Amino acid sequence: MENVIIIGSGCAGLTAALYTARANLNPLVITGRMQGGLLTTTTIVENYPGFIDGIDGFQLMTNMQQQAERFGARIRPLATVEQVDLSHRPFSITVDGDRIESQTIIIATGAGHRHLGIPSEHLLENKGVTYCATCDGALPMFRNKPLVVIGGGDSACEEALYLTRFASTVHLVHRRDSLRASKIMAERVLSHPKIKPSWNKTVTEILDVSKDEVTGVRLADTITGEASTLDCAGVFIAIGLVPNTSLFAGTIDMDESGYIKPKDGSRTNVPGVFVAGDCADKIYRQAITAAGMGCMAAIDCERFLMGSH
Ligand code: NAP
Repeated sequence: MENVIIIGSGCAGLTAALYTARANLNPLVITGRMQGGLLTTTTIVENYPGFIDGIDGFQLMTNMQQQAERFGARIRPLATVEQVDLSHRPFSITVDGDRIESQTIIIATGAGHRHLGIPSEHLLENKGVTYCATCDGALPMFRNKPLVVIGGGDSACEEALYLTRFASTVHLVHRRDSLRASKIMAERVLSHPKIKPSWNKTVTEILDVSKDEVTGVRLADTITGEASTLDCAGVFIAIGLVPNTSLFAGTIDMDESGYIKPKDGSRTNVPGVFVAGDCADKIYRQAITAAGMGCMAAIDCERFLMGSH
C-alpha cells in the first residue's frame, strides 16, 4: 500500500515527488513513456528562474528527478498507467500489468502534441512529419533542405529557430497574420534571415503520400481560399497541446477540452486525488507554473493524509 502515487514525471510530477518525499511520504512516481515530460524535448530553457544562462530541458528534468530521489522518491521508469479505479479508497491503478494500491494519487500527466487531423499527417509521420525539432531536426534527411513549421505559438517559434541550424529555409506557416508567441520569441523569429513566415495559411495536405516521403505541403489561404504549394523535406507540427487525461474520463471532473478542473488549490472532485501541471492548466502552461502546482498538490496531499483537511 502506497501513501501517494504520482502519475507523471514532468515539472509538476517531479516537484510533487520532491515535496512529498521531503514530507516522508515515500512517493512512487509512475513516469509515463516520456520520462521527464515534454521539457526533455526542448533545447535551452531560458525562463526557469535560477539559471542565469538558461538550462538544457533534458538536464533540468534529470536534475529534478535526482533531487526528488535524494529525499526518497521512487521512480518507476517508462511505466504507463493502463487503468485507474478511483471509486473508493484505497485507490488502485494498473501499471504495465501490476495492480498497485494507494491512499492518495497526484495526477500530473501533462499534455501531448495536438495533431492537424489530416490523413497525410499520420501516413507520413516519421517519414518527414514530426512534432519535435530537437528530437528529429538534425536528421540527414532535413539537412540543407527547406522545412515547414506549422503554428504561431512559442513552440512553433522555438522549433523554427532551432531548425535554422540545419535547414536551408524554414517556412513558418500560421493560420493568422500575427504570432501568439511571446514578444521576445516572435521578434527573434521574424528577424531571422532563414525564417520565412507564410501568413493566413492552413495546411490541407502534406505531400506526397504516393512517394512515402515529404516533398511539400498544400496550403489554403484562410482569407481568399486560394490554394498553393510549398516544397519542403520536412514538416514540424507545433500547434499546441492536448491534456493527457483520457484515463480519468468519467471519474474526474474535466472541462469540455479535457482539462481537469482543480478546486480549492489542487483538489479534484474525488477526495484524495489531486492534480497538477498542464493536464489542469490551459492558460499558463509554463515549466515554473507546473512546478508550482506540483508543490501545491504535494502540500494538499500531505494535509489530506494527516487528516487536517
Ligand atoms: P499555443 O500557445 O497554444 O499555440 C498553438 C499555435 O498553433 C497557435 O498559434 C494556434 O493558432 C495554432 N494552432 C492551433 N490549432 C491549430 C490547427 N488545427 N491548425 C493550425 N494551427 C493551429 O501552443 P504552444 O506554442 O505549444 O505553447 C504552449 C504553451 O507552452 C504556451 O503557454 C507557451 O507560452 C508555452 N511555451 C513556452 C516556451 C518558452 O517560453 N520557451 C516554449 C514553448 C512553449 P492561433 O494563434 O490562431 O490560435
